[in-house]
Amino acid sequence: MSNSYLRKSLRVLVSGAGIGGPVLAYWLGKAGASVTLLERADRLRKEGQTVDINNEARTIVKWMGVEEAIRKVTTKEAGVKFVDSKNKIWAAFAQSNEGTSPTSEFEIVRGELANVFYEASKYKAEYIFGDSIASIQETETGVQVVFSSKTRQTREYDLIVVAEGLASRTRALAFDEDLRAPIHPLHMWVASFSFEQGESDDQWARMYNAINRRGLLIRPDGFGRVRANAMFIDESGTLQAIAGSRDQDKLKEHFINLFNGAGWETDRIMDGLREADDFYLQEVAQAKCKTWSKGRVVLVGDTAYCPSPLSGMGTTAAIVGSYVLAAKIIKHQHDHRTALTAYEATLRPWIEDIQKIFPGAPQIGLPETQWGIGILRTFLYVLSFVVKSGVFDVLSNIGAFGERFSSSGQKKLKLPDPSVFKRSS
Ligand SMILES: Cc1cc2nc3c(=O)[nH]c(=O)nc-3n(C[C@H](O)[C@H](O)[C@H](O)COP(=O)(O)OP(=O)(O)OC[C@H]3O[C@@H](n4cnc5c(N)ncnc54)[C@H](O)[C@@H]3O)c2cc1C
Repeated sequence: MSNSYLRKSLRVLVSGAGIGGPVLAYWLGKAGASVTLLERADRLRKEGQTVDINNEARTIVKWMGVEEAIRKVTTKEAGVKFVDSKNKIWAAFAQSNEGTSPTSEFEIVRGELANVFYEASKYKAEYIFGDSIASIQETETGVQVVFSSKTRQTREYDLIVVAEGLASRTRALAFDEDLRAPIHPLHMWVASFSFEQGESDDQWARMYNAINRRGLLIRPDGFGRVRANAMFIDESGTLQAIAGSRDQDKLKEHFINLFNGAGWETDRIMDGLREADDFYLQEVAQAKCKTWSKGRVVLVGDTAYCPSPLSGMGTTAAIVGSYVLAAKIIKHQHDHRTALTAYEATLRPWIEDIQKIFPGAPQIGLPETQWGIGILRTFLYVLSFVVKSGVFDVLSNIGAFGERFSSSGQKKLKLPDPSVFKRSS
């Protein structure tokens, strides 16, 4: 059946131009929908550290024709070494696509990835920067939106997709709930920033643990800079209280004080933090929404089901979720209720699987005492030997072990066929 008329008239507003928003805009635009992408920041946000693209998301970037563009900007990280204050290596995990290393073939700085998706979608959607949704009103034929900017313009759409990340204001507005209602905190915070590479930096990432639940992870970015993560477990609520202030200087000072006397290369890393103009503070948490849509408003990516950076699957989930949502919207474009129900039914089991995090995480990875750090290093030392010996590959094919610890044990998702996006003439 030809559906070109309806496809032209389908009007979708996507709020948030991070990772999921532009992927969704690409696929909807490809099918002929009229897409507006609204981004609160006045430009594409380039902050953030290395993220990876796994599992089904690799197939989707191939279908989008951006695999080569992504490969060009990967960090080419060789692997991760766990070091002590004298830079002695306790464990090293070389790059692997089998789930035996934190480094995979597709490590990419988040801002570079956001840019690839922006470039791929910018002619398929109308991008509006520096604006956001002020109010939403469902009508009989669609949904009316008032924008926040001075013009307070009103527009009507068939659907609104919220892709605003973990702390989404539009989710709170549409679902009439507190901003933090679906957020499950893991009490870990990560300050990320970058600085020039020094003599001790190479293509390996290095992870260092310090007492009092502090950790520093420094990684190459493929462009001669070091991408640093200063990690901290805070169960007192102090960081939560000051994070909301958005006062960068205050937050920087807080982290510099937290890492005072941590040893290793901390001083040079904190100098980098002090000077950084790309400082970004991220709460490590999960989003677990009871339902992903309400009326004509639907949630995607971190807004709906943030798995947290601990899972290493946030970016993958946003890419896969956006693709599946776009396919369902196009397939059932006459009936948004069926489309949104099908989206959730298809994706939810897969999401629930990737949201499972290692028991005891994140505390187990950031011990309180030197004794705890010693146990962690010994465990990693043994694990790295098991991985190198190939025993892990054998074990990962064995039932329960494979399901728990290897990427091959993750639930597979059958992606909708991309032919659904072909425009009929
Ligand atoms: C600046 C930044 C840095 C990050 N750094 C890391 C990192 O180092 N490591 C990691 O694992 N994950 C990081 N993340 C999260 C990571 O991008 C996501 O986990 C994942 O890619 C899912 O993407 P998403 O599109 O759902 O959300 P995001 O990538 O978070 O994108 C959300 C977008 O929505 C915009 N937005 C927010 N509120 C509104 C609003 N009210 N109206 C309009 N637009 C709005 C934001 O500015 C952002 O551009 C970062 C996210 C951001 C925004």
